[in-house]
Amino acid sequence: MMAQYLALRGEAGDCLLFYRMGDFFELFFDDARQASQILDIALTTRGEHLGQPIPMCGVPVHSAESYLARLIKAGCRVAIAEQVETPAEAKQRGGSKALVARDIVRFVTAGTLTEEALLEPRRANVLAAVCEMRGLVGIAACDISTGRMELEECAPDRLGAALARLGASEIVAPEGWEAMPEGAIARPARGFASDSGEARLKAIHGVATLDGFGLFTRTMLAAAGGLVAYLEHVGRGSLPLLLPPEARAGNAALAMDAATRASLEILEAAQGGRKGSLIDAIDRCVTGAGARQLAEDLSAPLTGAHAIAERLELVAWLHEDGLLRESLRAALRALPDLGRALGRVVAGRGSPRDLGQLRDGLAGARALHDRLGGRGDLPLLLARLLPALAGHGALVDRYDRALVPAPPTERGQGGFIAEGYDAALDELRRIAGNARRAIAALEAKYRDQTGVATLKIKHNNVLGYFVEVPARHADKLMAPDSGFSHRQTMAGAMRFNALALHAEASRITEAGAHALAAEDAHFEELVTMAIAARQAIAQTAAALARIDVAAGQAERAAEGGWARPEIRDEPCLAIEGGRHPVVEAALAAAGERFVANDCRLAPEDRLWLIGGPNMGGKSTFLRQNALIVLLAQAGGFVPAQAATIGLVDRLFSRVGASDNLARGRSTFMVEMVETAAILSQATERSFVILDEVGRGTSTYDGLALAWAVAEAVHETNRCRCLFATHYHELARLAETCEALSLHHVRAREWKGDLVLLHELADGPADRSYGLAVARLAGVPAKVIARARAVLEKLEKGRAQTGGLAAGLGDLPLFAAAFEAREEACDGLRERLRGLDLDALSPREALDMLYELKREA
Ligand code: ADP
Repeated sequence: MMAQYLALRGEAGDCLLFYRMGDFFELFFDDARQASQILDIALTTRGEHLGQPIPMCGVPVHSAESYLARLIKAGCRVAIAEQVETPAEAKQRGGSKALVARDIVRFVTAGTLTEEALLEPRRANVLAAVCEMRGLVGIAACDISTGRMELEECAPDRLGAALARLGASEIVAPEGWEAMPEGAIARPARGFASDSGEARLKAIHGVATLDGFGLFTRTMLAAAGGLVAYLEHVGRGSLPLLLPPEARAGNAALAMDAATRASLEILEAAQGGRKGSLIDAIDRCVTGAGARQLAEDLSAPLTGAHAIAERLELVAWLHEDGLLRESLRAALRALPDLGRALGRVVAGRGSPRDLGQLRDGLAGARALHDRLGGRGDLPLLLARLLPALAGHGALVDRYDRALVPAPPTERGQGGFIAEGYDAALDELRRIAGNARRAIAALEAKYRDQTGVATLKIKHNNVLGYFVEVPARHADKLMAPDSGFSHRQTMAGAMRFNALALHAEASRITEAGAHALAAEDAHFEELVTMAIAARQAIAQTAAALARIDVAAGQAERAAEGGWARPEIRDEPCLAIEGGRHPVVEAALAAAGERFVANDCRLAPEDRLWLIGGPNMGGKSTFLRQNALIVLLAQAGGFVPAQAATIGLVDRLFSRVGASDNLARGRSTFMVEMVETAAILSQATERSFVILDEVGRGTSTYDGLALAWAVAEAVHETNRCRCLFATHYHELARLAETCEALSLHHVRAREWKGDLVLLHELADGPADRSYGLAVARLAGVPAKVIARARAVLEKLEKGRAQTGGLAAGLGDLPLFAAAFEAREEACDGLRERLRGLDLDALSPREALDMLYELKREA
């Protein structure tokens, strides 16, 4: 056994090995130590290896899923080694001492789950494969629980953003790649080849060319090759549901890097988890598939006005008609998760219940189709989705006839094929039923015959059917001519066989076995039908999800009085009465009111510098506007009275270092790296929010950096930007930057107390109220008094020297500074070009060098 175990252990690589022993999966050695700790189960020992006791722990097979779920969550991967023959077969093969053959039947990894119990219903589960070819990175991503697959290609420096958008739970990459993403699993590089990737995709979809699905580059196909190779490895040769790949164009989605996603808390709050995130505040989907689609929409908002308008039209239609919306949502709520049921069925892990879900889901889709089809006012998007809701007539009809209303999750016990579907099966069931009745009749007959009124016919798995009487009546059945033969003596009871009983019992067993075999064959056939229709079923699931998303957005909009944004193709941003959905909800829960604020950015006024006290609402204002852009481009209504949004190509959000302290990195360095990314990537069509940039370092450094960054954004990037800062000195930028304007969040001191109004007003902030905020936060009065004394001293000093920003007003502007330098360089170049080196004496050359050095 040890030899067999170690061989499998070797195959399992860096996965934990679940080794099947009867009713348990057992783990040994380091696997046992690790798993027992994560699962908090007992670590024991079994036998010895090289003279040492072997550490062991085990989990029961019937509850293995919940243990698997915890191991996967803790970041483990698990190889499942099953017994692949029965003990009887082993004996037949190798004699009485033969070991049952075992084999790894699959690997369970975070990115390759299909089990309902292991998946979160409202979250997609993405596996991504990445590799690099000729200076470009290919990404293949799939969610095998629903079969969706997409391929994309990007520059290496965009890989982080692309992976952040996908939010993959598992990433594979070729071993030895120097740009290996963090946490990625290294796989043999030969799998990441474009020709094998292409060949595999063609084979999977039975096509001679992939052109019908989209345009794929060699780099994309190489990544696809790596993905499929990994799936084959994990499934031990069998592949899960994979739908035709979609090519994702790099610029089809609003670009957001990982830092922006994290700081806007789109799918996950800063503390981790969904609670407190944007999606948590807006998700009103009634199906898991809808919630997954919404998450995808928010992760990749659109950049095409046409596509956004289509989604908005559908939301508006459902927004207007509350009754229709409610009835649609009620219908959707009742539907099973079609996509995931299909995923399990295609992966070969489907149950009769999954087939029942396909039937109910498709029938429900059909009913929706019929209800909506009659209307003359369908929005374009819905009219386009409508055909996908119908068209499964033959399949639904067959499933309807074949399956009982609520099929079981266990396939092995039978009982899921409906009566009337298969006459032969019905006959087998009738025979078994008759035999059961005959046995009941036998019981009465035997009671009569023996005169033992307490005689019973019973059944168990060891003996089959038998007759049981209390021990004190046993002698009546022991007589040689009684027709009974003794089987077993129990405490207080005796068990017997009887000829007639035996005959009926074998009739039941035989008919039962045949019936099970017949059901099994029907199951396979029904599964084959679903596999053949997998693409169409997936489309139905996608259409239902899209309708759910739109209805949910309409619902949320109606709930919160949100507005339909107007999308424009020019760099403007006009938001009236905007609100932050997450902060607003938190305030409402505490019985407080959110103050709505306007934002008006346009080419001639595109950089807003926002001052005001800490806690005054600056960050909230910045983020709410970024979120409104994101929600609008995802095709939904926005938390505002009115909004006109000029399409944004890239969205950036940066928060000054000290807010990030909890993450425990060199925070100022991180802040600067992130700021550098904005300065190099933001375009005139981008929208940037900068929150207290420069705060992570000393006052002088910080002010200087904030100043230079604001100037660069204004002069070079020329994007729309909201810039929150507590440096008053930056206000002087308004004198030189014509498209920059000053704003502040209002505050008032009232009877010595600070009142934060959370209201945005034009003009610079009058003062910082830092001490008042400190007092509000409960800093002791003695400390505040001392701080006031220090402050007075500082301010006196500042008045004398002209302040922190003294002299900054004379600085040439960002671009102008560079121009002056360029001019100087041009002069130098000119003179160097004019030199005739061969005519120069050593002395003259040295003089020339001195002269140049003096001028530099
Ligand atoms: P700042 O960035 O100026 O320090 P924040 O935006 O972090 O301030 O806001 C601090 C707190 O003030 C928030 O947590 C919220 O409770 C409250 N707040 C912010 N904006 C508003 C608003 N518009 N209406 C009501 N309360 C607000």
